[in-house]
Amino acid sequence: MTDHIATDVVIGGGGIAGSTAAIALSKAGVQVMLVEPTLRSDKRYGGEILHPKGLANLAELGLNLSALGADIDGFHVWEDQAGDVKLPYAASAQGPGLAIQHARLHAALFAEASQCSNVTVVRGMKVIGMVDHPNCIDVMVAGKCGRMSVRARLLVGADGSRSQIRKLAGFVCRRESLSMVSMATVPSSALPDSDCAHLFVDGERIAFAYPIDGMRARVMVDHASGTAPSPQEIIDLLPAACPTSIRKALCNQREDQGLRRFLTSLVSVDHACCGHTVLVGDASGTCHPLTASGMTAATSDALSLAKAIAEMPDDLGIAATSHAARRKSRQLTRLALATLLHEIYTDSTPRSTALRRAMMSDWGSVAGQVHGISLLSMTEDRPHQLLRSMTRILYRGLAHLHTPAAPLGLAGEFLAGVRASKTVFRYGTALLTNSYRLLGGNGRDTA
Ligand SMILES: Cc1cc2nc3c(=O)[nH]c(=O)nc-3n(C[C@H](O)[C@H](O)[C@H](O)COP(=O)(O)OP(=O)(O)OC[C@H]3O[C@@H](n4cnc5c(N)ncnc54)[C@H](O)[C@@H]3O)c2cc1C
Repeated sequence: MTDHIATDVVIGGGGIAGSTAAIALSKAGVQVMLVEPTLRSDKRYGGEILHPKGLANLAELGLNLSALGADIDGFHVWEDQAGDVKLPYAASAQGPGLAIQHARLHAALFAEASQCSNVTVVRGMKVIGMVDHPNCIDVMVAGKCGRMSVRARLLVGADGSRSQIRKLAGFVCRRESLSMVSMATVPSSALPDSDCAHLFVDGERIAFAYPIDGMRARVMVDHASGTAPSPQEIIDLLPAACPTSIRKALCNQREDQGLRRFLTSLVSVDHACCGHTVLVGDASGTCHPLTASGMTAATSDALSLAKAIAEMPDDLGIAATSHAARRKSRQLTRLALATLLHEIYTDSTPRSTALRRAMMSDWGSVAGQVHGISLLSMTEDRPHQLLRSMTRILYRGLAHLHTPAAPLGLAGEFLAGVRASKTVFRYGTALLTNSYRLLGGNGRDTA
């Protein structure tokens, strides 16, 4: 039997993006139906670092979740040859971020959304189709207990990186598989810093480690997709810069504790709004998790959509289009930064090595530290600032590429310098152009 129901907005997906969007829209006075197929939160894994901007976004919605996790004070990046550099949030005048188990954060946000007076939660059902009309959209929702058609003024696709809603609504999307990440839980005493997100890199491998509460820490190791390394094999995949304490902690992992595995991919849409459907969170774009930015971006999406709707409450389609236009450059900067870093961190050619070392040396300077942490934590999200930062790093890259074995004389030095600058600039600009091209979106979603 088919029921017909009416609401202002249907949100498909009750993850971080969908739950936050439900809270934000409800506070903007919008009637929301939040549709989530899964029935439990406790088995969820995903992002666990929320940058200060994400915390501030939640605070704007009246949510203070700091007690549920541990304070985190930015990144500590370790490179095989160049040593380590700290990028504290305080360098760009930010307070602490939050490290929190994903399931815990999700449960708190979903519970908060469920308690909002004008949010109706539908669990155990998912969005399976939609018909767009000139002034509204009919959303088909189905589950084991039946199906219904909901007439809404807007459908929000918050159903994650493999979004079905994105596909059903015909968004132009590009997807590229990147790697696989294996995740293990170790005692937090294994970390060099108890309050930082650690990033260990060399020219081939990336590992990420951070505390999730007072006792435990997550270690994530990036490797080729298709392989399923055991806990012991994971140790061989750690970059050289990863300290012995983490290696020992992984050695002590019992085989039966197992590893969680996630595929990483770059997904981009050229525009996050199509008809009466708008995408938020991972559905609207995903990148490699090394910048830990997905959840902060999801909370920004939720706030930005709610603000656009509050400005144009009579036409939610136009409000969603305006939100999608406003977030475009923010999303471009986020995805381009992660894509650039992933390429530089996993490529051992002399050019990438030069850029990697140059980046470490830049981040070691006062100005570079401010630029670096502002971009990583998304307080700076304008594309031209990413370009500016990259240009500084390209200049520094020259020194790292040009290390002659023997004295060359003035003319020889000059020619070698010109050659080095050409190589680094050509490579740097190719990297940037490639990142922006990838994000331009020139294919149909085949996910
Ligand atoms: C290994 C790893 C580490 C990460 N680390 C970080 C980090 O430290 N910091 C950070 O900010 N980000 C991190 N991320 C990214 C972060 O996890 C995501 O950006 C974030 O969880 C996305 O939330 P979301 O709500 O958009 O999507 P999801 O969490 O995927 O939620 C989508 C929801 O939609 C539901 N759904 C699916 N299909 C339908 C349908 N047809 N109808 C209705 N509902 C549907 C699903 O059940 C799910 O609840 C990491 C990601 C990975 C893989």
